Amino acid sequence: MKILIVEDELKTGTYLKQGLTEAGFIADLAVNGIDGQYLALTEAFDLVILDVMLPGINGWDVLLALRSAGKSMPVLFLTARDQVVDRVKGLELGADDYLLKPFAFTELLARVRTLLRRGKTIEPEMLGIADLEVNLVRRRVSRAGQRIDLTAKEFVLLTLFLKRQGEVLSRTLIASQVWDMNFDSDTNVVEVAIRRLRAKIDDHFETRLIHTVRGMGYVMELRNF
Ligand code: CA
Repeated sequence: MKILIVEDELKTGTYLKQGLTEAGFIADLAVNGIDGQYLALTEAFDLVILDVMLPGINGWDVLLALRSAGKSMPVLFLTARDQVVDRVKGLELGADDYLLKPFAFTELLARVRTLLRRGKTIEPEMLGIADLEVNLVRRRVSRAGQRIDLTAKEFVLLTLFLKRQGEVLSRTLIASQVWDMNFDSDTNVVEVAIRRLRAKIDDHFETRLIHTVRGMGYVMELRNF
């Protein structure tokens, strides 16, 4: 899940980006309305966190531009406590939710998750293959009934494999989907991550689920031989 943060207060923006990344999202930060609008219009984001008072183009106008361009991803407005009128205006313009500053990160995260679940593509709650199960809402992974702890990135990597079972995923594709890296300068990162994921979900089990396809990438599938 990819989230765009448009926030000119660098401290808040950096904090949000870091928190969301740790929560397993890919987060991009734009520090003014112009960059924010450009990114939101040209790249695919699942959600936008939008500050109202921004240099360049304000949050309302960014939202207006997005909706006019047919972009329907959920938008969460960040608004100052003394700007209740902002909130009304934002909702009228098609914002999905708003949060008053200052806010607790846990509150923001809860709103983000709710908005993403409410989003037009209904995500399944559970994913699985063979005896491996992933609960996307509770972020729990188990195999043969055994609980497995994954890091945030390992979790994203595993769900990518599960959603695209039987499909060979190249290192470049994995790098772009999991780390948001757009070129294969360091696909070693992918190899290391796959090795770690395998150590947790495959190595102690009889049936391997992640397979290497030489020269092409990796595939998750059940092979009956
Ligand atoms: Ca601001």
